[in-house]
Amino acid sequence: YLERREGAKRRSRLVVLAGPTAVGKGTVSRHIRETYPDVLLSVSATTRPPRPGEVDGEHYYFVSDAEFDAMIARGELLEHATVHNASRYGTPRPPIDRALAEGKSVLLEIDLQGARAVKAAMPEALLVFLLPPTWDELVRRLVGRGTESAEEQQRRLDTAKVELAAQDEFDVKVVNRDVGQAAREVVELLDVPATGTAP
Ligand code: 5GP
Repeated sequence: YLERREGAKRRSRLVVLAGPTAVGKGTVSRHIRETYPDVLLSVSATTRPPRPGEVDGEHYYFVSDAEFDAMIARGELLEHATVHNASRYGTPRPPIDRALAEGKSVLLEIDLQGARAVKAAMPEALLVFLLPPTWDELVRRLVGRGTESAEEQQRRLDTAKVELAAQDEFDVKVVNRDVGQAAREVVELLDVPATGTAP
């Protein structure tokens, strides 16, 4: 417990936010992007098709399998993984290196495999695990989102169980009861100059 308290006080210029499907990682990171403009929110590349309302270059870079392979071959991805046994996702490295060189802080919102890979490549990264208040609440959020088929929902819940079991590998855990509160807790872990924009 004391170690966890110590861990919670650590800050890093590079924070990785992971957690099970539908826990609200996207909502929390969007809140951070809108409220803390000095934090670079990494935009991943993915081979999955855009959901309604998703914008290329903002939520993801939506690329073909061939383009994804080309990014790997050019060494442009810090890490990449197949998620939920279907689409591929990867973190473009050049924007992260640029932001860190400019003294900015970077937030990555990726899956568990990605979090492990980033920690291996950049040990200074702080791994943050976003938890749902309860398992039932996680199921409610996933079903309520209504963006996945029943089969896809089941696949994601299976993945979520595996991911929840890995939470103790993480440096810090944040419970997502309230988006603003969770976002604040994540930002407090980032080594950012105070901008005065936070409530
Ligand atoms: P979604 O399709 O719902 O946007 O994302 C599915 C999963 O892929 C989420 O768990 C998300 O965190 C993960 N993900 C998004 N971008 C990346 C990435 O660049 N690398 C890895 N490893 N996972 C990612």
